[in-house]
Amino acid sequence: MRNEIKPQPGILDIALYEGGKAHVAGVANVVKLSSNENPFGPSEKAKEAFARSVRSLHRYPVTDHADLRAAIAEVHGLDAGRIICGAGSDEIITFLCQAYAGPRDEVVFTEHGFLMYRISSLAVGATPVEVRERERTADVDAILAACTRKTKLVFIANPNNPTGTMISAAEITRLAEGVPPQAILVLDGAYAEFVEGYDGGAALVDARQNVVMTRTFSKIYGLGGLRIGWGYGPKHIIDVLNRIRGPFNLSTAQLEAAEAAVRDRDYVNKCRAENARMRGWLAGALAELGVPSDTSMANFILARFASQEEAENCDTFLQKQGLIVRRVGGYKLPHCVRITIGDEASCRQVAHAVAQFKGVK
Ligand SMILES: *Cc1c(COP(=O)(O)O)cnc(C)c1O
Repeated sequence: MRNEIKPQPGILDIALYEGGKAHVAGVANVVKLSSNENPFGPSEKAKEAFARSVRSLHRYPVTDHADLRAAIAEVHGLDAGRIICGAGSDEIITFLCQAYAGPRDEVVFTEHGFLMYRISSLAVGATPVEVRERERTADVDAILAACTRKTKLVFIANPNNPTGTMISAAEITRLAEGVPPQAILVLDGAYAEFVEGYDGGAALVDARQNVVMTRTFSKIYGLGGLRIGWGYGPKHIIDVLNRIRGPFNLSTAQLEAAEAAVRDRDYVNKCRAENARMRGWLAGALAELGVPSDTSMANFILARFASQEEAENCDTFLQKQGLIVRRVGGYKLPHCVRITIGDEASCRQVAHAVAQFKGVK
């Protein structure tokens, strides 16, 4: 019998997202530096809140996320009424695409931008539009030139993954001012907490009607396994997103752990400082070995090799020592590997292994 069952247009164009590897065949103790996770895990207070939530496993969670939104608003100085929480910031990205893009609409992002932008656009039948970057950095003029009357969403991560580069607040403002009137600019702030004194674009959200910021608990908060993220935007957009958000999209465990995590500012500050210290050290050590990287503002560096072959060989060499980093061919960076900043011992192991690979020492 002929199969006449077909998914919606666009769906079969989606390449499955591959998460960072977690295992190497034959190696027992690995160091996972492939998913930009916090090497120290979450705050003890978040773990305690998660453990306490076991008492209410039989109860449905709240639907309005009021306590978590209030905590986020208090910590960041935002309007709680314009915060939406989701199962990772991925879910907020999905809501934005579902609500604002469809067949014949265009979704703009950059060539080394986060893969979920493409996946979420194709999932709703919209057309992904990929824009060239300049030296692995977003180019505002090129993004604006790619916008048309069909553009509904423009995604940019600042700092960006996997490049680690960032553009200035003035450039972001220019982007927000320049996108067409029917388009929303989405500022993905997954790594905003790693940048001392940076608001992730919150002030720009407050100043305008066409900017949404997304944030996550997966990176500096060390809660990637729990799936919690949030968005902040103008009231008219948050109201729309709440209509398509499932009423119970977050469990009590997620909500309570995230609330404890966001309130533990000492822990966040400690993680930011330690990340900056080891990131500088590792970038310097690799550069001395002839493996440069752009100045990273996030919790990883994008190590650049002379060729795809050298990047592959180094990755294989590292894996044999149980060091798992991320190949980024899917991000059009086949000659690079992305290395998450681990604890000091892991960073030293990486530098030592790259030195051996390069034949130094
Ligand atoms: C990790 C990451 C996210 C976060 O995804 P979650 O769904 O919140 O875990 C979002 N955007 C970028 C650019 C990322 O690297």
